[in-house]
Parts: sequence; C-alpha cells; structure tokens
Amino acid sequence: MGLLNTFPLSFKVKGKRIIIVGGTDEALNKVRLVSKTTASVEIYARQIEADFSAFPVAVFERALRAEDVVGAALVFVAEEGPDAELAKAEARRLGIPLNVVDVPAECDFYTPSIVDRAPLTVAISTEGDAPVLARLVRAQIEALLAPGIGKIASLAGGLRHKVENLIQDGAARRRYYEDLVSRPDMDAGAAEALLAQHAADGSGQGVVWLIGAGPGSEDLLTLRAQRLLQQADVIVHDQLVPAAVVEMGRRDAEQICVGKARGHHSFSQAQINTLIVRLAAEGKKVARLKSGDPMVFGRAGEEIAALRKAGIAYQIVPGVSAALAAAADSATPVTLRKVSSGFVMATAHGAEDSDLMHWAALSQSGLTLALYMGKAIAADVAGRLVAHGAAPDLPVGIVVNAGRTNRALYAATLWQLAGGAVVFADGPAVILVGKAVAAGDWAGAADAAAEQFKVA
Ligand code: SAH
Repeated sequence: MGLLNTFPLSFKVKGKRIIIVGGTDEALNKVRLVSKTTASVEIYARQIEADFSAFPVAVFERALRAEDVVGAALVFVAEEGPDAELAKAEARRLGIPLNVVDVPAECDFYTPSIVDRAPLTVAISTEGDAPVLARLVRAQIEALLAPGIGKIASLAGGLRHKVENLIQDGAARRRYYEDLVSRPDMDAGAAEALLAQHAADGSGQGVVWLIGAGPGSEDLLTLRAQRLLQQADVIVHDQLVPAAVVEMGRRDAEQICVGKARGHHSFSQAQINTLIVRLAAEGKKVARLKSGDPMVFGRAGEEIAALRKAGIAYQIVPGVSAALAAAADSATPVTLRKVSSGFVMATAHGAEDSDLMHWAALSQSGLTLALYMGKAIAADVAGRLVAHGAAPDLPVGIVVNAGRTNRALYAATLWQLAGGAVVFADGPAVILVGKAVAAGDWAGAADAAAEQFKVA
C-alpha cells in the first residue's frame, strides 16, 4: 500500500466563513460543495456570471479587499486576475487553507467527492490523480447507502447516553446499533422501542428478510436487496439463485442452499420453515433469498405463516419476476392498449383442465398469459389451451434464462407449439401467450422456431 500525500479529515466549519473568489461556473461548482455545510459562504467577483440564487450564499459583486479574507476558514480561488492573486497572498500570509481550482501545485487541500448522508459523510479522494475513478466509486457507494441512513446516524448519536445506561455489555450494544442502522425507515420513537426491546432480552432480535433475487443477473437485484444481503448473518437460498448473486452477501455470512440439486440434500418446505424460524430465534439476521419475486411462486405464503406463528420479525423485498424479465428480453408489452388489458401469471405445472379453460378464455379476450414451470410440458399445455377454445394461431413466445446473458428466445403460435417436439436450451423458462406477444421483438427467435417447431 502506498503512502498518502494528503490526509483526509473532517474540518469544522460551523459558524465560520468560507470565501470563494470568482463568479463563473467553476465558482458555482465549489458553492455546490461547500453549501452542504453550515458555514456562511461568501462569493467575491467583479462580474457575476453564474446563477448563485439557488444557494444560501452572500454574493459581493466588487473587487476583493484584503480584509475580506481575514478570519475565513477556507479560501477557494476559482478565477484568475488581481483578486485571485490578492486572495492567494492573503490566505498564505494568514495561514488559511487555500484551494486554487485546477492548479494542484497551488492547493493546500483538495476537495473529495462526497456521498452526503449528513451527518454521515463518505469522502472519496484520489489526490487529484483520477477524478473519474472517484466519481465511479462514489456512485457505487451512493447505491450502497440507504437515503435514510443519515437520519439513523443522528438518531444513534442522540441515543448514545441512553444506550450506555441501558446496555452494559459492549457486544450487546454493538448488536443494538447494527439492528438500528439496518432499518433505514426508523424514527425516534421506533429507535427507542427497539432499544427497550434489546435492553429487555439482552440480545438483538433475529429477523428474516424474504428477498427477491431477480431472474439471475447481479444487476437485476434491487439496491435494498443488495444492502440487506450485506447485513445478513445467514443466506438461505434456492437452487435457482445463481452463485454470483449469493456472493453479493457478506463474505463471512453462512450460506445454506435449500434447493433441489443433484448431490445436495434438498429440504422439504416444512424443513425450510423450521430452519429460518430457528436461525432467527438464535438472533440471526436471515436473508431468505428467492429467485425472481418472493411472492410469485416462491412459497412465501407458507414461510410467512411460519414466521408469524413463531413471532419472528420479517420483511419482504420485491424482485424482478421471471415473466417481467422475459417481457423485457423480448420487448413484449404484456399489457397493450386496445390489445391486452391485463396480464396473468400462472403455473403450467399441475394445471387442471378447469384452469386451462379459464386461461383459454382470458387469452381469447386478449389478456397475456405468462406461464411458469411449463417448459417440459409446453406442447401439452399448448394443445390443451387450443382444445379449450384458444385460437390455434395465438402468438407464443418462450424465453429460457430470461434476464441472463445466455437467454434464448423462441417464437411460434399455440398450434405450432402444440405439435412441436422442441429442444429448448437448458435453464428455466417462461411461456408468454397472447396477441400482445406479436408486438414484441423476437428477432432471431423466428428462425429458431422455424427450425425447431414442426409446423403441423
Ligand atoms: N419467484 C420466481 C418464480 C419461481 S418458480 C419469480 O418470480 O420469477 C420457478 C419458475 O420460474 C421456473 O420454472 C421458470 O418458469 C421461472 N423462472 C425463474 N427464473 C427464470 C429465468 N431466469 N428465466 C425464465 N424463467 C425463469
């Protein structure tokens, strides 16, 4: 690791003055930065060009005087000319830290990129070497920190003495703060209630987060899902959640796969229910990671019932369900004005004739069907839909591995699908049926269909 030529620190400016010399956009950029503080900001320029009116700053449209600089906490110079030279000379004479925009050699300090969750701040600096990198890192950190986290920091600050009084054990105190900061929507009352609860049972309460992992790409995970994965002690995931998504959790988090895979012991639903209840009862934060959205064919209902019965706190984080990823991959508007007034998510697996009759009628009326768990029985389901009154020429689109880089698209009509012995790519699939499917972009899929669907 290299040595730093600059030292990052948090410099007190409350009740002090910050001087900016210059009236153009460069000065405005600095104003944007320093007006995040409670310092009083003064701008000096013989000519004011930029619009400073959105900021609570004092603007002096005149030449700078030596006495203006006296007593300032920081001086920024964002122009050239006699005023700039005077400001530099006075700042140096008085020992006031100086920043000259775009002239590193003349700077006493640089301004870092800031992630602002006041009072929590993250400053990112590359000592001026790579501002683009700093911005990139900043964007990543922005995504990691919930908007409400600053409020939580203030709450934690305000509660410090109470926490010290009520919880003596250091580790227990830390568990309280961890619990507090992992709930960005807390207010003061809730934070105190949580404190009382921690003080009463001596340890943090466990919680289960039912998290939608999306269709299988890391970047289709929500920011909230990512944050909670970072906080979880245990990640209990299904087989369909790819390793790359599970890896987004904390490095030292325990990982338990409860899915059905060869070589793995697979858990029954009852065992999964028991497992998550037990882990949370031990005080652990459990991320129950499910593919797509947890509330769609995710057996969330059973798990929630078990958690409620055991009195365990839970929270649900939605995810991108496979049908929506399939719609995006194929540019299919599943609802479409004058064509499709709705969208039905249904499971093909285990569908009864009465279900098929119902769906056939819905698809005839224009609604789009999204059939899950139907790849292996696609031809059979298509045939039964036609038998129950769906039009044989109704468009069908199938997306295997939706939302992933290895997605594969297939397009046909119900009748073609019913008669076809199709060899689909490996992976989970969603079958879209309905008139709106024809509005999608199944480019490449048509050829695959011609090859693979036998036209009866
Ligand atoms: N909760 C999940 C569904 C789980 S049921 C969700 O909201 O997406 C499992 C079924 O989901 C699979 O049989 C398949 O039909 C569908 N599925 C899951 N991931 C998929 C993907 N990446 N591409 C296509 N279909 C997928």
